[in-house]
Amino acid sequence: MSAAKTDATATAAVSTNGNGNEVQAEQDPRLIVRPSTSLGLEGKVILVTGGNRGIGKQLVLLLESLGAKVAYTDRSDRPSDHGSLAIHADVTYPGEMEMAAERIEKELGPIYGVVINAGITRDAMFHKMTHRDWDSTIAVNLTGAYNTIRPIFPLMRDRGEGAIVFISSIIGEQGGLGQTNYSVTKAGLIGMARSLAHEGARRNIRVNIIAPGFVESDMTDKIPANIRETLTSQIPMQRFGKPLEIAWPVATLLSPVASAFITGCVVNVNGGHRM
Ligand code: NDP
Repeated sequence: MSAAKTDATATAAVSTNGNGNEVQAEQDPRLIVRPSTSLGLEGKVILVTGGNRGIGKQLVLLLESLGAKVAYTDRSDRPSDHGSLAIHADVTYPGEMEMAAERIEKELGPIYGVVINAGITRDAMFHKMTHRDWDSTIAVNLTGAYNTIRPIFPLMRDRGEGAIVFISSIIGEQGGLGQTNYSVTKAGLIGMARSLAHEGARRNIRVNIIAPGFVESDMTDKIPANIRETLTSQIPMQRFGKPLEIAWPVATLLSPVASAFITGCVVNVNGGHRM
């Protein structure tokens, strides 16, 4: 965290940036606590599921640049081409997620944060939806969240510290054509997160939810052009979001500095799509 001067009468605050240089900024002299240049994530160990592409990848890179020690699941055997730890693990297998947690604790240190990001869509109108479409979506999006957090939550409880962020979706709250399976999982994550928020609150474990609207990624690349056009016209900001625009609010909710008193909260990040 920056070393900020606390002279309440000063009009120019002096703080230290990430390079250790002093920077001056005009300040409201009434402010007693100066804004920090840090989210307090330096050295914090954070696991991101599905961090090899899309929103998860941008999040991994952002957290890394904020000084966190990041691990992410990647089902391919590609080694990481940046500083974070790639772990071959499939969230649908409890044993793999237990081993992932053990490895992270051993190689990086105590896990402070978890981001439940891995997710799939298997869209079909309900009258055509197969059991396989249904089961696979529940297995990854919902049971995968359980498998990921189950080995880590007791450790957080013992240590009295933790932050978990679930990536839900606008579809979890408003539903979507051909997305009964997906919307069930994304709504389920909200219930799961809030229950864990209750359980974790007294142990200093915060649990929050980001509900993105439509974001550019492989997942939305599948949307046919005409539907995409209609969707865009319904978004007040008239565009899909970018992965980094989801990553920043996630980092903020992980931050023990920026969101110390926020838990059980759903944050909509959707260009005004659902107000
Ligand atoms: P992508 O399809 O680009 O990426 C999905 C990620 O999930 C990949 O890293 C994928 O890994 C991983 N994943 C899938 N199945 C598994 C599994 N069994 N075990 C481990 N990892 C797995 O999606 P996005 O980046 O767009 O989505 C990220 C999250 O954001 C998802 O939960 C999604 O539901 C949610 N979301 C996305 C929105 C959007 O518009 N894009 C809107 C609202 C929510 P692999 O490469 O190995 O398949």
